[in-house]
Amino acid sequence: MTKYIRLILSSTLPRAPIPRHMRLCRFCRAAVEDKSHVLLECAVHGPLVDLREAFLAQVFALDPNLEVVFPGLAHYDFLVKIIASRRGVVRVARYIFEAFQLVRAAKMFIPEGYNLP
Ligand SMILES: [Zn+2]
Repeated sequence: MTKYIRLILSSTLPRAPIPRHMRLCRFCRAAVEDKSHVLLECAVHGPLVDLREAFLAQVFALDPNLEVVFPGLAHYDFLVKIIASRRGVVRVARYIFEAFQLVRAAKMFIPEGYNLP
């Protein structure tokens, strides 16, 4: 199971050679665009928010314990918990795929002074 958790969380979003602290979310530009932010935090892009809400509703229905622990965990830790859940994992791979499709469809934020290679 650990191998699969690492594989899913190590999949990368497209990245430019920009310092990490300047890799701001292409939707909100208020936080670093990492997996946890995109998958569980960013509240600006309507389709992403809708996708997340549907995903969480399904995951919480499949594994009610995840809804109990959700408010108390850091987003990354919650992602690990979902992937580790035998009930929740059936839905998480599709959510990650669909969420990253939305991200890839939007133009990446490039800070002034940086360019794509
Ligand atoms: Zn954001």
